[in-house]
Amino acid sequence: MVLQHPPPTSMEGSSSNEHIVMLPMMAHGHLIPFLSLAREIHRRKGFTVTIASTPLNIQYLRSTAGTEIKFAELSFGNADRGLLPDAENTENLTLDQIVNIFSASERLEAPFRQFLSEIVEKEGKPPLCIISDVFLGWAVGVAESMGTVNVTFTTCGAYGTLAYMSLWLNLPHRKTESEEFTLPGFPERCRFHISHLHRFVRMADGTDSWSRFLQPQISNSLQSFGCLCNTVEEIEPLGLECLRKFMKIPVWPIGPLLPSALLKKSPASAGQFYKHRAGKKPGMSMEKCLEWLDSQKPNSVLYVSFGSQNSISESHMKELASGLEGSGIPFIWVIRPPLGFDFRGEFRSEWLPEGFEQRTTEKNQGLLVKNWAPQLEILSHKSTGAFVSHCGWNSVMESLSQGVPIIGWPMAAEQTYNSKMLVEEMGVSVELTRGLQSEIGGEEVKRVIKMVMEEKGKGGEMRKKAAEIAERIAAATNDEEEGDDKGSSIQALDDFVSAVVRKRREIRT
Ligand code: UDP
Repeated sequence: MVLQHPPPTSMEGSSSNEHIVMLPMMAHGHLIPFLSLAREIHRRKGFTVTIASTPLNIQYLRSTAGTEIKFAELSFGNADRGLLPDAENTENLTLDQIVNIFSASERLEAPFRQFLSEIVEKEGKPPLCIISDVFLGWAVGVAESMGTVNVTFTTCGAYGTLAYMSLWLNLPHRKTESEEFTLPGFPERCRFHISHLHRFVRMADGTDSWSRFLQPQISNSLQSFGCLCNTVEEIEPLGLECLRKFMKIPVWPIGPLLPSALLKKSPASAGQFYKHRAGKKPGMSMEKCLEWLDSQKPNSVLYVSFGSQNSISESHMKELASGLEGSGIPFIWVIRPPLGFDFRGEFRSEWLPEGFEQRTTEKNQGLLVKNWAPQLEILSHKSTGAFVSHCGWNSVMESLSQGVPIIGWPMAAEQTYNSKMLVEEMGVSVELTRGLQSEIGGEEVKRVIKMVMEEKGKGGEMRKKAAEIAERIAAATNDEEEGDDKGSSIQALDDFVSAVVRKRREIRT
C-alpha cells in the first residue's frame, strides 16, 4: 500500500484543504463513476480526493485521470482467491468467478485501515469522510474507528439500488409459490417476476456465497451516515422516495456523473470524452467510428453494446445479427467472444451468420467494433437513434442524457430492475428479451428494432420521452447560475458536503 501523492499540508479551517477518501468496487462500471465523482468534488470544492484501490485498478484510473486526483494502492495478495493471479477487476471474469473477487474485496480492509492511519499521522486528523461503494459495507466500521464517517455511494439508480438491496436482504421469492411477488420497499403495483431475478438470486437461500457476501455488506452500508446516488431527483421520483424510506438515511442524488461537455450536448469530436474513461483501447479508431456516423442520417443508427463485462451466447449472437441485417437499419455493434469463450481471445467469424460481416460491410450497413467502443462519442452523435443495451446504469444515463431511447436486454446485477423502471416508469424503453437463457429469434429482433427506430408511433413516443428526460438531466446538472437555477444534482452535492462538515464538527466536540 503506497500513498502515491502526499496530500498537501493541512490548513485548519480552510475547507479547500479537506480530504475525502474514496473506495470503489473493483469493476469498470464502478471505477468510472467513482472517478467522475472524485473529479466533481475536487473541481467544485477544491478538496483533496484520494481513490484507494488495488494496483491494477489504480493503473487503469491513473491512465485517464489528470494529476488533480490522488491514488493509493492497496495490496491485494494473489494467493488463494480462486482467481487468476492478475485478476483485480471483474473484467473478463465469468459471472461465476465474480463472486470470488467480490468476496476477496473484504481483504482490502487491513491495508485500507493502514492507509487511513497514515493520513491521520500526516494531516493530524482523519479524512472528512470515506465514500465507499455500497458493496464495501465494511468501510462503515473502519470510518467509525478512525473518527470519521462513511457515506455509501451507489453507482446505480435509486430504483435499481433499492430492488437489488431488498431482494438480497429479503429473498421474497423464497417465501411464495407464485412467480410474481411484491418486494419490501416498493408499492404494491410494482410487482416483480421470478424472471427478473438472475439465477444467483433465484437459487440464493442465505447460505450461498453471494448471500454470504452481499447480505452483510448491504446491511453494513445501510448504517452509513448518508448515501450518494448516481441519479437525478426529477427523473426517478418513485425510486428516490422508496429508497429514502427504505434506507432511513439522507440520500443525495448527485448524478449523472458524466463529462460536462456531454451533459451540455456540445458536438462530439474524436477523443473528446474518451480521455475521461478508464483507460481502455477501442477496437476501432474513434475517427473511423465518427466518420462513419457522419455519413449516416440523423437518428438512423442503432448502437448495440452490452457494457464492460457481458456478452451473449453464440446462438443469441446469430439471431441478433440476423435481425439487424434483416431490418436494414444501420448499426454499430460492439462484439466480443460469446459466453463460454475467453473474452480476451480473438473474435471468430464463425460466431456470426455466414458472410454477415462481409455483406453488411459491403452494403455499408454496419460497423462491428471488437471488444470496446468509444460509447460516449457514439451516443452523443446526432446519427445515433437508439441503443440496444444490457441496461447497466452508466449506459442508461449516458443514453438518456442524449435523449436516445433504449431497447433493453438486461442480463445480470440490477439490470432487469433498471429495465423494468425504464419501461414502466419512464416509458423510454422496450425490453427485447431478458436474461442469458431467453428465447429470442431474428424475426422478433427485427420487429422490435424497426418499431423503435420509426420516427412515428411507439418509437417516436419513446424518443420524445427520452428527450424530455435529457432536458431534466441537463437542468439538474446546470451549475452555471446560483440561486433558483442551480440544478438539483449540484445542490445535492452541496448538501452532502454541508452535512459531512456539520457531522465532523459534532464528532470533534
Ligand atoms: N463502455 C464503453 N465502451 C464499451 C463498453 C462500455 O465506453 O464498448 C463504458 C460505458 O460507456 C459505461 C461503462 O463502460 O460507462 C459500462 O457501465 P455500465 O454500468 O453500463 O455496465 P457494466 O459494464 O457495469 O455492466
